[in-house]
Amino acid sequence: MTAVTEVLAPLADTRQWQEELYVHLHQHPELSSHETETAAEIQRRLTSFGYDVTPVGGGVVGVLKNGEGPTVLMRADIDGLPVTEQTGLPYASTATTVDDDGNTVGLMHACGHDVHITTLLGAAELMAKTRAPWSGTFIALFQPAEETAAGAQAMLDAGLTDVIPRPDVAFGQHVLGHEAGRIGITPGPVMSCADSIKITLYGAGSHGSMPQLGVDPIVLASAVVQRLQGIVARELTPGERAVVTVGALNAGTKSNIIPDRATLLVNTRVYSDEVRAKVLGAIERIVKAECEASDSPKPPTFEYYDQFPLTSNDQATSEKVRAAFDAHFGTDRVFTMEAIAASEDFSRVPDAFGTPYTYWGLGGFPAGAKAAPNHSPFFAPVQQPTLTAGTEAVVVAALAYLSKDA
Ligand code: ZN
Ligand code: ZN
Repeated sequence: MTAVTEVLAPLADTRQWQEELYVHLHQHPELSSHETETAAEIQRRLTSFGYDVTPVGGGVVGVLKNGEGPTVLMRADIDGLPVTEQTGLPYASTATTVDDDGNTVGLMHACGHDVHITTLLGAAELMAKTRAPWSGTFIALFQPAEETAAGAQAMLDAGLTDVIPRPDVAFGQHVLGHEAGRIGITPGPVMSCADSIKITLYGAGSHGSMPQLGVDPIVLASAVVQRLQGIVARELTPGERAVVTVGALNAGTKSNIIPDRATLLVNTRVYSDEVRAKVLGAIERIVKAECEASDSPKPPTFEYYDQFPLTSNDQATSEKVRAAFDAHFGTDRVFTMEAIAASEDFSRVPDAFGTPYTYWGLGGFPAGAKAAPNHSPFFAPVQQPTLTAGTEAVVVAALAYLSKDA
């Protein structure tokens, strides 16, 4: 018997409470940075499994020390989204809440973080139940506010590095549109680095009939939007991947008034720090130059927000975990995942410790079905084999480092 088969032996019992917990979490999503009940539930369960549990920065960490050996950290994000669920599932969320702007919004686990919580708690129980075949420390980290890129930083700001030992390796997983039961993993960049920028352009207000007395920020903003499209097409080396999207352009109130400012909300996605510097530098250069071209009376302002770091999997860690996945799941259930344009703040915690990491994708949908994407009101992963595969993946990856047969 290998360590993996021994630790996974009681999985049938774990699966029962996991499915109930999954439905409960799915029906009770909470917004980013407001995951109070979710964190309390996690804390209760980890404590009952015998973990040393500490709430940190809105999240929860459980540490299970089991003799000498490496320290392995597995992270799950726990927040829901302001989306009104339309999946028609019998356990669909009907929850609503009032957001920070005072609007009543629907609430849904539209990114599958309920899968992440359930699979990590399941793996945490299994690791605690059967300790003989492994040695070392297993850390289960539950992070709030992934969707707003604030949660990992909040845990670090609250002193996470003093609360847990330095992990030798860190893992994360995300349920994605692949076939349920399959796992995608790849070394190198796997999720993009993202920045959002609020750009304010200044004009000079005037009557719509007297444009010569003002500086029209709408014409200026239009020129900026057009010109930004040239960054990816004309400034990056062919093959360097990036996205520059203007998601909002706001200016003006009436047809006969030239307003005095325009605001743009720009979002960028890149896969290396070098390309990030090029893209952000080009945006600022173009905006400033267009303001000058329009004789703008005041320099533009740039406010950066919702900044996600690059998720770039360590080569050796990814190869080791991939080999363990291949051995456990069989090579037909493990595939090399392409980098995706979405972003994550997962890497902040391993980066704070200087810890190598790998982050893999967990399939969650029936074969051949067209899966609604993450964040869609129709996002509906199937419970099984998703929950079981996700639980097994955590145990298999952890034991690749902690198993006594290794
Ligand atoms: Zn998401
Ligand atoms: Zn997510």
